[in-house]
Amino acid sequence: MKNSLKLGSPFGIGVYVHWTFALLPLWVIMVTTSHGFGLPAALGAIVFVCAVFGCVVLHELGHSLSARRYGIPTRSITLLPIGGVAQLERMPTNPKQGLVIAVAGPLVNVAIAGFLSVFAYAFGLFGTITGLGVTATFATVSGLVLNLIAANIILVLFNMVPAFPMDGGRVFRALLAMKKGFLPATEIAAKLGKILAAAIGIYAVFWIQQPFLAVLAVFVWFAGQAELRHARYIHRQSQPIVDVDMDGDGNGFAKVEVLPPDHPVSRRFVVKWPR
Ligand SMILES: [Zn+2]
Repeated sequence: MKNSLKLGSPFGIGVYVHWTFALLPLWVIMVTTSHGFGLPAALGAIVFVCAVFGCVVLHELGHSLSARRYGIPTRSITLLPIGGVAQLERMPTNPKQGLVIAVAGPLVNVAIAGFLSVFAYAFGLFGTITGLGVTATFATVSGLVLNLIAANIILVLFNMVPAFPMDGGRVFRALLAMKKGFLPATEIAAKLGKILAAAIGIYAVFWIQQPFLAVLAVFVWFAGQAELRHARYIHRQSQPIVDVDMDGDGNGFAKVEVLPPDHPVSRRFVVKWPR
């Protein structure tokens, strides 16, 4: 992604941070100080936000490494203030593969929450809870650990909202595609995604005044539309090509037409499937 800074390349996958990410610590300082907290609390909150985005990178690596198992490389992972984006080389049209890749991300957060819970239980941190959210105190290890557990649980629940192309929407599309096929499932998932994106956007603006959530809703709306267009393109590409020798010279390349599989000509002539 353009205007991004490279952080590293775990498993050979470039992890970048977009310049707009700098808005996040500024916003955290604004929120903490407006709630009457001092600079130490604000810095603690920034450490917490960075730790959450560390978990987001691991989440995206979950998607990327499971995609790699199916021979799909990842171009990059980019961190934005609204979350992480793993850019896969291509999207699998196989619903089972789509399901595994979609679930792998949130499963990483389930594992992190589980691991931190065991850690917190072993060291007796659960009794020391002081509060949750950006305005809570993160100056202590227990504050950080307990809030990270909460953040990972929230990441799982939020990502599983069926607003395509968020993970829950991808799971919904994959399950639907097993019955209806790739394109019709994507059409329905994208429609539901738009409705949910609009609902999330209205909630973010008018109820909780959360700018990053509002931006995320806009992102979900347009990313869903872009993926739907891509799915339509893939669908057209996978239609049979009918190769008819019209001019009689025997080379068969006089006319090449793309016809739907149920077209009568598809049955009368030689049908070539690309790939
Ligand atoms: Zn994800």
